[in-house]
Amino acid sequence: MKWEENVRKVVPYVAGEQPKKQNVIKLNTNECPYPPAPGVQRSADKLNVEALRLYPDPDVTPLVEELAAYYHVSPRQVFVGVGSDDVLSMSFLTFFNSDKPILFPDVTYSFYDVWADLYRIPYETRALREDWSIEPADYAQPNGGVIFPNPNAPTGLYESLETVEKILQANRDVVVIVDEAYIDFGGESALSLLPKYDNLLVVQTFSKSRSMAGLRIGFCIGSEKMIGYLNDAKFSVNSYTMNRPSIELGVEAVRDDVYFKEITGKIIATRERVKKELAELGFTFPDSQANFIFASHKSVPAKEIFQALRQADIYVRYWDKPRINNSLRITVGTDREMDRLVEFLKTYLA
Ligand code: PMP
Repeated sequence: MKWEENVRKVVPYVAGEQPKKQNVIKLNTNECPYPPAPGVQRSADKLNVEALRLYPDPDVTPLVEELAAYYHVSPRQVFVGVGSDDVLSMSFLTFFNSDKPILFPDVTYSFYDVWADLYRIPYETRALREDWSIEPADYAQPNGGVIFPNPNAPTGLYESLETVEKILQANRDVVVIVDEAYIDFGGESALSLLPKYDNLLVVQTFSKSRSMAGLRIGFCIGSEKMIGYLNDAKFSVNSYTMNRPSIELGVEAVRDDVYFKEITGKIIATRERVKKELAELGFTFPDSQANFIFASHKSVPAKEIFQALRQADIYVRYWDKPRINNSLRITVGTDREMDRLVEFLKTYLA
C-alpha cells in the first residue's frame, strides 16, 4: 500500500511474558514478590471514585513533593512519569537531539535501541568487558549523550560511583542518564553526584523495590534546568500522564520507609542465599546487586533449562541474542518460590 511508505515503522520492545495461567512461579519480569506498603492498601480502600470525573493534577504535585522531601532535593528537580519507561522515553526525546550518536553498553536494557530508532536518534553501543563491567574510556569519545543502567540489566552488575563519575567527567557537554531501576537492592545511588553535575539525570521506578509495577510510576531527579526541559516535552505530548489513584497511592508508598527497607532487605537476603545454592549447582553469574541473578550453567545450555523450567510452570527470562544466549535472568522471589526453583534444578541437573 502506498500509505505505508509514510508510516513510522519501528521494531518494538518485547516485554517479558505475563502468563495467563494461575499458580505459576513468576520470576521473569523482576517484579517484587511482596505486596505494596500497607498504607497503599488503606489508601486504595478509601479511594474517592467520585473524584475520578475530574482530570488529575498535571504537575503531579503531591507525589513530586513527597519524592523531593524523601531524596532531599527541590520539587523543581523531580519529574514523575508512567513507569520509568515513560520517563526514559521522554528523556530520550528531550535530551538526545544531536547528530552525534548516543552511547550505551552492548548488553543492556533492550528498550534503549528501540527508543533511539523510534525518535531517529543515532546510537552506538560499547562492548562490556568480558566480566560484564563498563570500560569508562569507551564513553570518553564525542557523542550525543550517554545512558546506562546501574546496576546493569540483565547482568545485575553494579558499577561504583567512581566509575559513574569518570563517565560524567568525560561528558560535561551532553546529558548522562543513569537508569537506577534496581538501585535499592544494594548499590549506592548517583543522586549524591547531582550537586556537581547539572547534566546528570537519575531515573528510578516504583516497579521493583516499591512493589508497584501494576500502578506504573517512575521518576527522575536532575538539575532544575533539565527537569524544566523535560516538562516542556511532556506538556507537548500529554498533560495528564499520571492518573489520580497512581498519584495518591504513590505518595503512600514513599511515606512507609520502614516497610520499604524491610522488603528490600528480605530480597537482598534471599538473593545472597540463592547465589550460594546456584553456585553449588554449577551456575556462574556476575555478583548481582539487583533483584535478579543472571546465571549460566557450566554444562547445560540456558535455553534447555529455560524450557524445562517453563514446563514446570517456573518462568524465568531468556534471550536468544549474541553474548547472552547462554544465560537465564532469574528474578528473586519469595524464599518459598526460590526453594521450589532450586529443588527443581537439583532434580533436573542431577
Ligand atoms: N530500566 C530498566 C533497566 C528495567 O529493567 C526496567 C524494567 N523493564 C525499566 C527501566 C522500566 O521499568 P518501569 O517502566 O516498570 O519503571
